[in-house]
Amino acid sequence: MTGWGGGVVAWVPADFYRAVDGGLQCTLCPFRCRLRDGDTGACKVRRREGDRVLTATWGTTVEHWSSVERKPFYHFRPGLPLLTLAPPGCSFRCDYCVNHRVSQYGRDPDSRVAAQDADVEKLVAAAAERGGGLALSYSEPSLAAELTLELGARARPLGVPLVWKSNGFLTPEAVERVAPVLAAVNIDVKAAAEEEHRRLTGAPLAPVLETLRLLKAAGVWVEVSTPLIPGTSADDQQLAHIAEFVASLGQDTPWHLLRFTPTYRMRDNRPTSPERLADAARIGRAAGLRYVYVERALGAGGRATRCPGCGVEVVTRGVWGQTESLLRDGSCPACGERIAGIWTMDERGGA
Ligand code: SF4
Repeated sequence: MTGWGGGVVAWVPADFYRAVDGGLQCTLCPFRCRLRDGDTGACKVRRREGDRVLTATWGTTVEHWSSVERKPFYHFRPGLPLLTLAPPGCSFRCDYCVNHRVSQYGRDPDSRVAAQDADVEKLVAAAAERGGGLALSYSEPSLAAELTLELGARARPLGVPLVWKSNGFLTPEAVERVAPVLAAVNIDVKAAAEEEHRRLTGAPLAPVLETLRLLKAAGVWVEVSTPLIPGTSADDQQLAHIAEFVASLGQDTPWHLLRFTPTYRMRDNRPTSPERLADAARIGRAAGLRYVYVERALGAGGRATRCPGCGVEVVTRGVWGQTESLLRDGSCPACGERIAGIWTMDERGGA
């Protein structure tokens, strides 16, 4: 079927909606769109057709292998290969999005994606055969909740973990349904103040923070990312508030600081300097966070895990995810301190 923008995307029956006042209301994300017949939701990948809602997120625009560290996850099954999928669409409209051609499907005329239907059985079998996991990333996985549930149901019995790199913009009832099939999530906290978050993403912040709390409480392994966006999250005060929130989830929550690079509608801004990233990492540690990471700009030291007990470097990582771990049963070999994380398949990360 031809989709908006000239790409090819199939629309299939969706879940996550209910009848209200004689109409249909989508219950997947906090926008809770009320859809009249023919309406498309704010995400542009859900629409009403007669008495049902359809979604364009059963298909994937990407199907490739990458390492778990590239999502990034630094405390979850190091070295795990992930078969990564990217259904079209996003509930946010960030001007700095590096994946805008996929994420802004339906919104931006330049987003002309073609998606192939996800063959769930084949994808899960491929991940199992390689001893890997499945990831939904690059676009917004929560909009592909139906695909997530189906992948998770098939993957779990085979011990194949399913992970999301997400914006966390879901309703609590949607979180409750997807949490049992997710082994790990990395969720962006892009700003500390409602106003800034709305300006940057077009959406409120509070539901993102609530999703993080709910997923953590549900036992899903949680890591947080913050892109340093000029004019919003790059500000010291914003960073300090975000770091405080991450620490409130637990001081062992890994916090990834993502370097801004000029792209999409923010081509005139400069990339984040290494000095600025180092400052941001200091802000994170000052908030009590034990594991603060910068993928590239600070060299190998920015990617290394140090034991919070004795300071010994216990996990080192290469740029492309090659990880070397000295951990023994998840603990520091020098002082025995437990390093928070899912380090082996036997922990919850098995599925
Ligand atoms: S997922 Fe899409 S259709 Fe559903 S409430 Fe959110 S923006 Fe609206």
